[in-house]
Amino acid sequence: MTTEEIAKFEESLLALRDQLSHEIKDVIQGAEMGEGEDAGDTETDESEERGIVQAEAIALKDRLHRVLDALERVKAGTYGTCELCGGAIERAILEIDPESRACMACKAKK
Ligand SMILES: [Zn+2]
Repeated sequence: MTTEEIAKFEESLLALRDQLSHEIKDVIQGAEMGEGEDAGDTETDESEERGIVQAEAIALKDRLHRVLDALERVKAGTYGTCELCGGAIERAILEIDPESRACMACKAKK
């Protein structure tokens, strides 16, 4: 990959990092504000709802970690290299999933 291409992916990663940070804040703030619109719904299990919010926040945080990792790899000059086989990660994968750590073949093996 050329430095220009890597710079483009770095830009997407930075945008993704900001977006995820906002989403995490929204999810957590939304949970703290309580039930919102379906406040009258007695069938809603509050603890279950909190569990869903937590799972959502964890999933977002996981992705944020992967994005931060990818940004570290950009700095280290190893971005776009598969962590499993050491080969190059296909552009098509990076375009969909810029924080990807594995190439197409290694992903398929999982
Ligand atoms: Zn691989």
